[in-house]
Amino acid sequence: MNVRSFSGIGMTSPRARGRMIDRLREQGIIDERVLDAIAAVPRHVFVDEALASRAYEDTALPLGFAQTISQPYVVARMIEVLHAGRALGKTLEIGAGCGYQAAVLAQLTDQVFAVERIAPLLDKARTNLRTIKEGNVRLQHSDGQLGLPQAAPFDTIIVAAAAARVPPALLHQLAIGGRMVLPLGTATQHLVLIEHRAEGFVETRLDAVRFVPLLSGVS
Ligand code: SAH
Repeated sequence: MNVRSFSGIGMTSPRARGRMIDRLREQGIIDERVLDAIAAVPRHVFVDEALASRAYEDTALPLGFAQTISQPYVVARMIEVLHAGRALGKTLEIGAGCGYQAAVLAQLTDQVFAVERIAPLLDKARTNLRTIKEGNVRLQHSDGQLGLPQAAPFDTIIVAAAAARVPPALLHQLAIGGRMVLPLGTATQHLVLIEHRAEGFVETRLDAVRFVPLLSGVS
């Protein structure tokens, strides 16, 4: 068992987490279920020990392997858009990283699949999710550009790395009535919401963002 994971869950962490939730409200996150889900996940468990004191700042932090744990506001915003007026249902996350966002999703639905292309990061996610006793996330080492055909279709797809265009496999694996949010673009990026309606796909451009790139293959 990971000793450090418990070191911060004492006095300071609930207060720091409370301040993070207050900040998310100020930034415009209004879905209480999303705020509760974020409040329920100890983000410091998911970052390196040296960065644990910064875990509740609204900032992306390095994860190693040139990757970052997403900024809490962006995690909240993406999930709020996906959750509005509906249940998340069967959910696929592309780019599990350290497992933080998957843990937040798992507070809202009991069917979370998360794929990651970098094997040591996937191991990290597995350890972190075990530390917080989150058993609802199924992790897979694969190239998320291909989606996860064996578990498709998905009601919700959330992508944590930016592509130049929407990977076609993800569109194919989005159920009718389903929603996907992903960052699109290279030099400049925006979050894009894609709704799969009976009559076709509807795209809505949301906030400007900065994500690491969606890469091909596994390592
Ligand atoms: N969701 C993570 C954010 C991780 S950053 C969190 O909560 O912290 C984005 C992640 O996407 C990185 O770990 C990167 O390795 C991964 N990634 C990039 N391209 C990918 C691909 N094609 N398939 C799966 N994962 C990918």
